[in-house]
Amino acid sequence: MDQSLLHKPKNAWDIYQDQESRQAIEQLTEKYVDFLSSCKTERETVTRVRARLEQAGFSQDLAASRFYATAKEKTILMVRKGRRSLQDGLRIIGAHADTPRLDFKQHPLYETCDLTLAKTHYYGGIRKYQWLSRPLALHGVVVLASGKRIEICIGEDRQDPVFVIADLLPHLAMKQNELKVSDAFEAEKLNVLLGNRPVPGRETDQEAAEKDKDRFKKNILELLHRRYGLVEEDLYSAELQLVPAGSARSVGLDGSMVGGYGQDDRICVFSAFEAFLAETDPEFTQVVIFWDKEEIGSEGATGAKSLFMEYILEDLFQSWEPGVRMSQILRNAGALSADVHGSIDPDHQDLHDALNSSKLGYGPVFCKFTGHRGKVGSSEATAEYVAWLRNLLNSAGIPWQMAGLGKVDGGGGGTVAKYLAIYGMDIIDFGPGVLGMHSPFEVTSKADLYATRQAFQAFLR
Ligand SMILES: [Zn+2]
Repeated sequence: MDQSLLHKPKNAWDIYQDQESRQAIEQLTEKYVDFLSSCKTERETVTRVRARLEQAGFSQDLAASRFYATAKEKTILMVRKGRRSLQDGLRIIGAHADTPRLDFKQHPLYETCDLTLAKTHYYGGIRKYQWLSRPLALHGVVVLASGKRIEICIGEDRQDPVFVIADLLPHLAMKQNELKVSDAFEAEKLNVLLGNRPVPGRETDQEAAEKDKDRFKKNILELLHRRYGLVEEDLYSAELQLVPAGSARSVGLDGSMVGGYGQDDRICVFSAFEAFLAETDPEFTQVVIFWDKEEIGSEGATGAKSLFMEYILEDLFQSWEPGVRMSQILRNAGALSADVHGSIDPDHQDLHDALNSSKLGYGPVFCKFTGHRGKVGSSEATAEYVAWLRNLLNSAGIPWQMAGLGKVDGGGGGTVAKYLAIYGMDIIDFGPGVLGMHSPFEVTSKADLYATRQAFQAFLR
């Protein structure tokens, strides 16, 4: 039989064997690890991206050909004018910069057992036990009644203390061991340790000191006041997020993978942004957007369900080509919903359909449809669009794979794709595979990172 009739996905490492490619992979990874280690919240990501955009000559001037806008410091959209008219369409890449984490509740502080703790409310899909007994860092902002914003980042510097939710000792876990995982780990027990020292004694009399019921909590409040000028009420107007402390790093004896927090979906944010900065003379106008709130259903003023993108593009395009029709531009757009794919887990292969799963190291993954059981909740890309995309990547020599998520009856997921599809544009889910998705230490392949960046650039070109 003619072997060319068969399709076999190519391993990206086999394609990138030459010295030059291997070097390019390492260089890109180094930048990526730095990005991943220093941008752990959507606000931090937007701040960093905006600074780089301004360096590259982007502004908020609607008349400029290089433009950006932000929504509440949590979502950022960037546009570069192409050579062709807007009527001919756009190239859009949308990724998300929010990641699962533990948020402080609005009344976080309390003391018990002579310890000060903070109550949390998790954000996004987490497996609760993965967040126990591991160092956590506190990132976020507190806005004072005066409007002054205080940035908080504790636990990343080696000199900083970290935070932890202490797990139950095995000796007393007999009963817990018998429970279902969903019953064994309760959200109300995800309380993080903040302190074990009482407020310095104004009371010399031990008995009088012990009567002060809040003396451990007061010590933490005094600390927050000394360091940041905060009072307890300020915590109502705060967004404080606990995330895994420490840097991303290489994984494996051969160092071929990257491990780190928040790769879903900051690997796409990073790759799309690098591609956008590199592809400076496009045929079609490029739009890249990093959304917030994808992990909780794309809700709110900063999520993909909001009208932020539409409103901003309307103003921009009217300024560029007065009288242009938004409905037509968006209908003619081609888009990538840039998000990671859950690759086949070597220890849980039975949960995947082997024929339709993605593998780490085989390049970014197209997911023609997402949703669950009967394609419910999915936006499905057309056969025509898939054909166009595979031709684009094949002719650029970029590895890619086609997959679905898990077994048909086994579950599923969704992305921002369907919220852009409502305009009638072509859109497909596309991004590198990841192992341990939504865990505090997700794993990706360096070859996939490189291939993804190349693919985004080919698309934006
Ligand atoms: Zn994602």
